Amino acid sequence: MKLAVFDDYRIGVVRGDVVHDVTHLLPDALDVVPYERMNWLIANWFALADDVAAASGGAHPVAAVTLRACSPRPSGVFALPGNYAAHLGEIGRMTVSGKRTADEMGFFLKAPASVIGPGEAILLPKGSQRRFDHECELAVIVGAPAFEVPAEQAAEVVFGYTCAVDATMRIDPDGRQEDRSMRKSFAGFTPIGPYLVTADEVGDPHTLTSHLSVNDVERQSAHTSNMIVNVWRAIEIISSVLALRPGDLILTGTPEGVGPITPGDRLEISIERVGAMTLAIRERPALSPRTF
Ligand code: MN
Repeated sequence: MKLAVFDDYRIGVVRGDVVHDVTHLLPDALDVVPYERMNWLIANWFALADDVAAASGGAHPVAAVTLRACSPRPSGVFALPGNYAAHLGEIGRMTVSGKRTADEMGFFLKAPASVIGPGEAILLPKGSQRRFDHECELAVIVGAPAFEVPAEQAAEVVFGYTCAVDATMRIDPDGRQEDRSMRKSFAGFTPIGPYLVTADEVGDPHTLTSHLSVNDVERQSAHTSNMIVNVWRAIEIISSVLALRPGDLILTGTPEGVGPITPGDRLEISIERVGAMTLAIRERPALSPRTF
């Protein structure tokens, strides 16, 4: 099933180019915290899955709604550094990680408030001369509370998958070298979507081709079989530190081919069986008080 969050955080099931509104299946109490609806749906999925699958009313063309992030309020956004061998070292002194892998480094955090959907834009700081990059990543959406889950059981806590861009401000090797969590947490730096595709539709997450292009020029083309730490081991590593919660995101690392984005660019990401989305790159309208 393909699930969408749209307009005022309404929940829909997507078939073809149509989204069927299923918000009425969720408790009215969520109307005061509509951005929590998807977390609630994921946590209560087994009670509602059949009704969601059968929904046929409330149809809107996808093109007529504003798609929000398909998991708009994750409690955590976990991301793997150095998870594709061909990416290790490709940007040289613009990264602090050197050639260390995710197996050694574990995970880093992106601020949940940096998450956006395809209806929004990646916003670069106004007037910046720094380099900002795209990173094409398969994202896992957690389906159940998960603490100390061994890799062999990790598939049981995966709800689904979506496309993610891990947008990044690179360090300036000769100047400022802000912390990674700050460089990756600007407003709009974690676009996900277009839909949440349930795990049963995707199957083995290590059998997917991925592509990312900027202005119709292909920058990244890869296969998820080349992850150094696979999805199951990633869940084992993260859940050995703290509990994952329904709706949490795990960005599984970028393959080679990362490159710069600038205001006015149009970025397209696609992952086999997961979907495709196009994103606008824009400049923030005002200078921030701390310029970059
Ligand atoms: Mn990344």
